[in-house]
Amino acid sequence: MNIILLGPPGAGKGTQAQRLQQELGMVQLSTGDMLRAAVASGSELGKKAKGIMERGDLVPDELIVGLIEDRIAQPDCAKGFILDGFPRTQAQAEALDRMLATSGAKLDRVVEMEVDEKALTERIVGRFSCAKCGTGYHDSFKRPKVEGVCDVCGSKEFTRRKDDNAETVKTRMAAYRAQTEPLLPYYGVRGVLRKVDGMAPMDTVFRQISAVLAGT
Ligand code: ADP
Ligand code: ADP
Ligand code: ZN
Repeated sequence: MNIILLGPPGAGKGTQAQRLQQELGMVQLSTGDMLRAAVASGSELGKKAKGIMERGDLVPDELIVGLIEDRIAQPDCAKGFILDGFPRTQAQAEALDRMLATSGAKLDRVVEMEVDEKALTERIVGRFSCAKCGTGYHDSFKRPKVEGVCDVCGSKEFTRRKDDNAETVKTRMAAYRAQTEPLLPYYGVRGVLRKVDGMAPMDTVFRQISAVLAGT
């Protein structure tokens, strides 16, 4: 099964994608994580993306499409993938359709995570993750079970994203509204779009998504 998680920054896409990967064996494809890895490695792509990401703008479509195209072609994606943070523009959505057609794969569901915009800044500024395994946490909503120790890998090192500040959130929200939200009708007319309540507790959201996937 291949799905897209669609929602504004801080909606909980990464959180749910990580859990779907752990529990259902699907592969999480996060363009944000891929870009941050490129920035950290200092690659050509990383150099181009760094400043754009720090401002909260979208990286040009052709760079992102190349990244996803290479990743989707890898054998592990045959198990089913969860797109987290892609597509974000009409051009990306059309490029995805072409990729899927070429490989004979199908898009089973697009899950919209509906959230109250007022909650997003708090979610984003409180976000941190394990520096070693990438597991996501939150200052108020998801602290490690043992203070300062990652639940999953035991590491004591955590990181915060440079773009997770109140100022950048405004730019990222505007980009979402202008460029990504218009994709909802694009998928709606095809009958693949389902909504879940992203304001519910994480476990409840996971159950809602599982129910959506069970209904395919
Ligand atoms: P996205 O990938 O959509 O930007 P994340 O999954 O990284 O969002 O979630 C943003 C922050 O909010 C994280 O710190 C995460 O722990 C927290 N979070 C995610 N889902 C929920 C939820 N349902 N309720 C409260 N906090 C949440
Ligand atoms: P969030 O889920 O909090 O919005 P991401 O980790 O998905 O954040 O993305 C971080 C940044 O990486 C975005 O603000 C943007 O600059 C860039 N980015 C990620 N995915 C895409 C994409 N599909 N198209 C363009 N830019 C992207
Ligand atoms: Zn860890």
